[in-house]
Amino acid sequence: MPLSIDTEKCNGCKNCYTICPQDVFSWEDDIKKPEITYLYECSHCGICWMECPKRAIDITLPASCY
Ligand code: SF4
Ligand code: SF4
Repeated sequence: MPLSIDTEKCNGCKNCYTICPQDVFSWEDDIKKPEITYLYECSHCGICWMECPKRAIDITLPASCY
Protein backbone atom coordinates (compact mmCIF):
# COMPACT_ATOMS: atom_id res chain seq x y z
CA MET A 1 0.00 0.00 0.00
CA PRO A 2 1.49 3.42 -0.93
CA LEU A 3 0.27 5.04 2.30
CA SER A 4 0.01 3.44 5.71
CA ILE A 5 -0.41 4.36 9.36
CA ASP A 6 1.30 2.50 12.16
CA THR A 7 -1.47 2.61 14.75
CA GLU A 8 0.94 1.48 17.46
CA LYS A 9 3.05 4.60 16.94
CA CYS A 10 0.11 7.00 16.34
CA ASN A 11 -0.74 9.16 19.35
CA GLY A 12 -4.02 10.47 17.90
CA CYS A 13 -2.83 14.08 17.52
CA LYS A 14 -5.11 14.54 14.45
CA ASN A 15 -2.45 16.47 12.49
CA CYS A 16 -2.74 14.26 9.41
CA TYR A 17 -6.52 14.33 9.46
CA THR A 18 -6.72 18.11 9.73
CA ILE A 19 -3.90 18.99 7.32
CA CYS A 20 -4.37 16.64 4.36
CA PRO A 21 -5.44 18.80 1.38
CA GLN A 22 -7.04 15.80 -0.32
CA ASP A 23 -9.16 14.61 2.66
CA VAL A 24 -7.63 11.16 2.43
CA PHE A 25 -8.14 10.43 6.13
CA SER A 26 -11.28 9.93 8.14
CA TRP A 27 -11.34 10.16 11.93
CA GLU A 28 -12.31 7.09 13.90
CA ASP A 29 -13.85 8.39 17.10
CA ASP A 30 -14.05 4.98 18.76
CA ILE A 31 -10.28 4.44 18.62
CA LYS A 32 -9.32 8.16 18.48
CA LYS A 33 -7.11 7.56 15.46
CA PRO A 34 -7.18 8.33 11.73
CA GLU A 35 -8.03 5.84 9.05
CA ILE A 36 -7.05 5.93 5.38
CA THR A 37 -10.40 6.20 3.63
CA TYR A 38 -9.74 7.75 0.23
CA LEU A 39 -6.32 6.32 -0.58
CA TYR A 40 -6.57 7.01 -4.28
CA GLU A 41 -7.13 10.71 -3.68
CA CYS A 42 -3.60 10.92 -2.21
CA SER A 43 -1.25 13.13 -4.25
CA HIS A 44 1.85 12.01 -2.30
CA CYS A 45 2.54 15.58 -1.24
CA GLY A 46 4.15 14.34 1.99
CA ILE A 47 2.56 16.94 4.29
CA CYS A 48 1.01 14.34 6.58
CA TRP A 49 4.36 12.57 6.85
CA MET A 50 6.15 15.83 7.72
CA GLU A 51 3.54 16.85 10.29
CA CYS A 52 3.28 13.50 12.06
CA PRO A 53 5.11 13.88 15.40
CA LYS A 54 5.39 10.11 15.86
CA ARG A 55 6.65 9.19 12.38
CA ALA A 56 3.65 6.86 12.19
CA ILE A 57 2.93 7.50 8.51
CA ASP A 58 4.74 5.71 5.75
CA ILE A 59 4.49 6.85 2.14
CA THR A 60 5.79 4.89 -0.81
CA LEU A 61 5.92 6.92 -3.97
CA PRO A 62 4.51 5.26 -7.05
CA ALA A 63 7.09 4.29 -9.69
CA SER A 64 5.86 7.10 -11.95
CA CYS A 65 7.14 9.68 -9.41
CA TYR A 66 10.78 8.65 -9.68
S1 SF4 B 1 0.64 12.59 1.22
FE1 SF4 B 1 -0.56 14.51 1.07
S2 SF4 B 1 -2.42 13.94 -0.06
FE2 SF4 B 1 -1.48 12.04 0.65
S3 SF4 B 1 -2.49 11.58 2.59
FE3 SF4 B 1 -0.63 12.75 3.08
S4 SF4 B 1 -1.26 14.91 3.16
FE4 SF4 B 1 -2.89 13.74 2.12
S1 SF4 C 1 -0.22 12.84 12.52
FE1 SF4 C 1 0.65 10.86 13.10
S2 SF4 C 1 0.37 10.72 15.29
FE2 SF4 C 1 -0.99 12.34 14.58
S3 SF4 C 1 -2.96 11.31 14.19
FE3 SF4 C 1 -1.82 11.29 12.26
S4 SF4 C 1 -0.72 9.30 12.23
FE4 SF4 C 1 -1.38 9.71 14.34
